[in-house]
Amino acid sequence: MVLKSENALEVLKEYEHKDGLDVHTLMDSKTRGGLTYNDFLILPGKIDFASNEVSLETKITKNISIKTPFVSSPMDTVTEVDMAVHMALLGGVGIIHHNCTAEEQAAMVRKVKKYENGFITDPVVVSPELTVKEVLALKDKLGFAGFPVTENGKFPAKLIGIVTSRDIQFEDPNALIKDVMTTDVITAYEGVTLKEANEVLRRSKKGKLPIVDKQGVITSLLSRTDLKKNYHYPLASKEPHSKQLLCGAAIGTRPADRDRLKLLSDAGLDIVVLDSSQGNSIYQIEMIQWIKKEFPKIDVIAGNVVTREQAASLIAAGADALRIGMGSGSICITQEVMAVGRPQGTAVYQVSQFAAKFGVPTIADGGIGNVGHITKALALGASAVMMGGLLAGTTEAPGEYLYREGQRVKAYRGMGSIDAMQRSGNSENAATSRYFSEADSVLVAQGVSGQVVDKGSITKFVPYLASGLQHGLQDIGVKSVSELREASSNGTVRFEPRSASAQLEGGVHGLFSYEKRLYN
Ligand code: IMP
Repeated sequence: MVLKSENALEVLKEYEHKDGLDVHTLMDSKTRGGLTYNDFLILPGKIDFASNEVSLETKITKNISIKTPFVSSPMDTVTEVDMAVHMALLGGVGIIHHNCTAEEQAAMVRKVKKYENGFITDPVVVSPELTVKEVLALKDKLGFAGFPVTENGKFPAKLIGIVTSRDIQFEDPNALIKDVMTTDVITAYEGVTLKEANEVLRRSKKGKLPIVDKQGVITSLLSRTDLKKNYHYPLASKEPHSKQLLCGAAIGTRPADRDRLKLLSDAGLDIVVLDSSQGNSIYQIEMIQWIKKEFPKIDVIAGNVVTREQAASLIAAGADALRIGMGSGSICITQEVMAVGRPQGTAVYQVSQFAAKFGVPTIADGGIGNVGHITKALALGASAVMMGGLLAGTTEAPGEYLYREGQRVKAYRGMGSIDAMQRSGNSENAATSRYFSEADSVLVAQGVSGQVVDKGSITKFVPYLASGLQHGLQDIGVKSVSELREASSNGTVRFEPRSASAQLEGGVHGLFSYEKRLYN
């Protein structure tokens, strides 16, 4: 009997289950074994909204939310200042690596925190007795101009003028600043809100707005360049009070790392990542407890973990988030050498479902090779993804481009590669501690060292990832990352395993040759 078309939606209700599998059945790995991102697909839902309405806001720790669920990995070929600044500007967060001295790492954190200020609270000021030549040299060294002049050249002190590029452009190099500076300075009084101060700056058409107290002492400075940056990066991840960019950094779990964290905290660190390939150790548990007591304002991302049991230890110790992944990284040979690890799809599912019971967000780390993997990691319960290889090779990643076989490439290496573990000048050898190898007479590598192709700037690449993710969520029929996690967990979003031939079918096939351009 053929049913009437108009009854299709009614007939659908007679089915006991929705088409496809719920995530729990998909991931029931008792007999089948673990799954990777490529082993399954998400079934489409219903679209009744535009993709740009999809919210990608997410929590990366118990206390910190960001606008896009992207975190850059603490690796010395991925995250230093430039990457961390731009990840934060684009709505994510960068985690500065620790394969360097504590002082070098703290200096990097400080640069990120100072990058874009609402109010610059420690502005560079100059003395009226300096010469034009000296201020020009300062301008070259710092890369910006427009210095408030104080009576004694110190900060804080009484403001007596301001010297800008225009004041000194055509002056005698030996002239004194007090003779060429602008003295009728437009200022605002302390207590002015950022919005009001920005308005004064906008109206005055000046580059800098010194903020002064009742005695005329300069207490901070507002800069037009920062205003512009605010305008261009509406998603920027900022600390709500200081308006400084959010910054994370990785440390180990040895006694020296406690001193390192003190320096990082002084530099303004928001998030610390305890960087270990196997996080369930007594060292890490003690470290979490110590940090939560000594630095309650710094959120702790603990890990790495891939099982419920590992997760439980770190959650009980006070972790504010968990980093998931063992052996799934693109440069990783851990599973091959150690025989330990877990397929990443299963790891993300098991840990995230457990951590969700305690309100602890999870970050899927390693093995993210395309936008679809990000969508899948979030559907399995992660709140964000951490990327190494996908971001290495961008302009903002450390290192110079070189040419290999006609391709423009940048170095990318595992932190457990021999190369990284032997990084010269690294007295504290953070890379070895990540793999508990400090005491070994033979270094056992858990990673490789290689190159990845040039990807251009993350200012284009990250928005591509964000837009791709929004389209994925639209296809699934959910309007936000949190809705995706909820609808996946309660069985509304459906899944299906993907056979080997289904994987072939889902890739490009049957072409003589083709070009794969992902975005423009
Ligand atoms: P990717 O995004 O797939 O390239 O993976 C990056 C992740 O791999 C990092 O965030 C680390 O968790 C992990 N990782 C980094 N270095 C190594 C290594 O040498 N061996 C194993 N895993 C590594």
